[in-house]
Amino acid sequence: MVTTATVRNPAFRRAKSFLIRRLLRPLRSKAARYFRRRLLDRGFDGTEGAAAGRALFLAPHPDDEAIGCGALIARKAAAGTEVVIVISTDGRHSERADEIGPEELARVRRIEAVDAATAMGLEADAVRFLDFEDGTLEVNRGPLREALVAIEAEMRPDEIFAPHADQHPDHRVLNEVARTTFAGTSNARFYEYPIRYWGRVPWVVRPPGKLQSMLGLIVDPIREWRRPPAMLVSTKGFEDQKFAALTAYDGEMKSVGYLVYEFAAIGWEPFFPITR
Ligand SMILES: [Zn+2]
Repeated sequence: MVTTATVRNPAFRRAKSFLIRRLLRPLRSKAARYFRRRLLDRGFDGTEGAAAGRALFLAPHPDDEAIGCGALIARKAAAGTEVVIVISTDGRHSERADEIGPEELARVRRIEAVDAATAMGLEADAVRFLDFEDGTLEVNRGPLREALVAIEAEMRPDEIFAPHADQHPDHRVLNEVARTTFAGTSNARFYEYPIRYWGRVPWVVRPPGKLQSMLGLIVDPIREWRRPPAMLVSTKGFEDQKFAALTAYDGEMKSVGYLVYEFAAIGWEPFFPITR
């Protein structure tokens, strides 16, 4: 029986931390690698024709579009295909805010977003900023939906790319709002692009929290497994532009870079087709 006394026992704590370090963490990273490999193995090659569709890319924060879709955006731009990127929040609360302050960070990230778009071959006016405060999409669902509907109506894109739901609240809300607004209702083909799939637990798509995480470990892999296969678009020929766009976001990449660059190096960008 595990009593408070045994939990406080240093020997027990050492054994527990040894177990986590030696057994659970390596297992988790093996599982994550396996999961990502399966995602790619099951996917189909959608590279041919990927340049042609006029596309609306929905990003929760400045950098998500480059992480998930940088090479595809560059591919479309190179073909002269119309692309609009919508950056939903101002990104003011990421780690750099401690150093330079949220106001200044919002200003810097806006400049970085334009630089990244330029690196992907777009004009500056291809980027639209909705300027919701970072982290507040949950309480701004209504205005967010209105803004997206207006841009979609103006552009009438062939394709819409929204973020895959993951543990970040803004990513989840934009996913839900875009999905309920456009998937199966707009004439555009609708896709989700993974952002944190290259993190430690790619299959967990619910908010952080003990019970949620436990549920997520069991339920989410099954849910993810049952998705239709991902469309894979080759990054060949456009890696340099994707890396240049990521470099424009260098300040952000310092905290998440190793995952992002691992993702950028796999040779494909995966997109989940969603219909309703
Ligand atoms: Zn984000």
